[in-house]
Amino acid sequence: MEKKKKSLSFSESVNFMVDRALTVLDIDPGTSKSIKTCNSTIKVSFPVVINGSIEVFTGWRSVHSDHRLPSKGGIRYAPIVNQDEVEALAALMTYKCAIVDVPFGGSKGGLLIDPSKYSRDDLQKITRRFARELVRKGYLSPATNVPAPDMGTGEREMAWIADTYKHLHPEDINYLGCVTGKPVAHGGIRGRTEATGRGVVYAIREFFRNADDVKAAGLQPGLSDKRVVIQGLGNVGYYAAKLLDEEDNCKIIAIVERDGVLTNDRGIKIENVRCHINEHKTIKGFPDAQFSEDGASGLEIECDILIPAAMEAQITTDNANNIKTKLIVEAANGPVTFRADDILRQRGITILPDAYVNAGGVTVSYFEWVRNLSHIRFGRMERRHDEMRGAQMLKVIESMTGEKANDWMQAEIVRGADELDLVRSGLDDTMRNSYQQLKEVLDSHEEVKDFRTAAYVVAVQKLLRSYIDIGVY
Ligand code: NAD
Repeated sequence: MEKKKKSLSFSESVNFMVDRALTVLDIDPGTSKSIKTCNSTIKVSFPVVINGSIEVFTGWRSVHSDHRLPSKGGIRYAPIVNQDEVEALAALMTYKCAIVDVPFGGSKGGLLIDPSKYSRDDLQKITRRFARELVRKGYLSPATNVPAPDMGTGEREMAWIADTYKHLHPEDINYLGCVTGKPVAHGGIRGRTEATGRGVVYAIREFFRNADDVKAAGLQPGLSDKRVVIQGLGNVGYYAAKLLDEEDNCKIIAIVERDGVLTNDRGIKIENVRCHINEHKTIKGFPDAQFSEDGASGLEIECDILIPAAMEAQITTDNANNIKTKLIVEAANGPVTFRADDILRQRGITILPDAYVNAGGVTVSYFEWVRNLSHIRFGRMERRHDEMRGAQMLKVIESMTGEKANDWMQAEIVRGADELDLVRSGLDDTMRNSYQQLKEVLDSHEEVKDFRTAAYVVAVQKLLRSYIDIGVY
């Protein structure tokens, strides 16, 4: 009988995927090891009084690389999180930042907690205490280590973290840059909350602009009417699915959540599901779709695009052979394990990898950090000037053609870009440029046949450049 292979840890899975790129680039073992090794990880345990008794919480923060500072990466709150997971996610951040040309190192944090079991006030106490531990140990500051939201955290937690840092370092004029993903009223940037999901959609749109890639995946041209299955309707999944539904005319035929799967072959309206979840805290009972408690089966529904947007290790050797899609878009981090990736590639399924696809979050975090350091909103100086130039241009066109522009044309030509326009433009540009960088590797390296290896080749080449320039000391 064939011996069942021991399953790989998340870090091993990421490292094996990176190894494919290192082999293509023929990098020596010492350099390869230094690229893959996580620099440092701290584990903190701290007591907090909850309902009159003391509870001890445990968390980690890893810095995978600090060749560029600050090191950047989210903090997740989850009932199951461990050092290996945090280190794997920190490594993904290193590669992700390199792929999308965000000048940061890679980091990640995790706190072992089920946030749904605590009140808002308790979560505030726990978050502030965790932040204090990170600041004191040198793992949180605008210059060296900047967290962001991830699973189980959002702008509320980021505002508490920023405020905690400010109280510990009131002299730091750049204190707002110690964390990104903050509410706009507290130093955040417009468009950050939706950024990861929107970036996922920009990546899909760029894929569909490349007719040869669409054909190679066995898909018909055009995103309209594509049948989409999405897993996880949290921050990332909700915005990605909403845009595909409302702007790209896709049919979301299944939504897989913790408690089961909703299906409807005619398409499910995402905003309606979101309202239902907000009200009932479950997808069960949603009136315009069929419900089944067997959520895992949802991943195996035949579709054009499968978007895992929940968590790691959702497509494994157990279900990889049953996946019936042409294109997997990894909105979550690490949703496909290394061995499952092998199976899917052999089956000819195209995968757009996490390190590229979900990089929209860190891209807009970078914009937020720059905004915090420059202490001015993007567009504030130029918006009215641009409007004036637009109005002048319109006058010239009207006098040359003798025609009067209608109200819609006038509004479109005269309008100056505000912060949200600029953020979306910068995000779109980043996702398009990075896709083309992956394409260049696919075109120039015969042995590279998949987007994941291409993405890691792009990342490793940039990291290598930086190591060569700085040297090892
Ligand atoms: P979130 O907590 O907002 O949402 C996760 C969603 O997935 C929730 O709706 C949850 O109910 C659902 N879910 C959890 N386990 C599930 C399971 N086994 N089956 C089906 N559904 C399940 O988290 P998020 O911020 O949207 O992050 C999702 C993924 O995207 C994670 O892998 C995260 O690391 C990655 N990511 C997030 C960001 C960001 O900006 N938030 C950026 C990059 C990558």
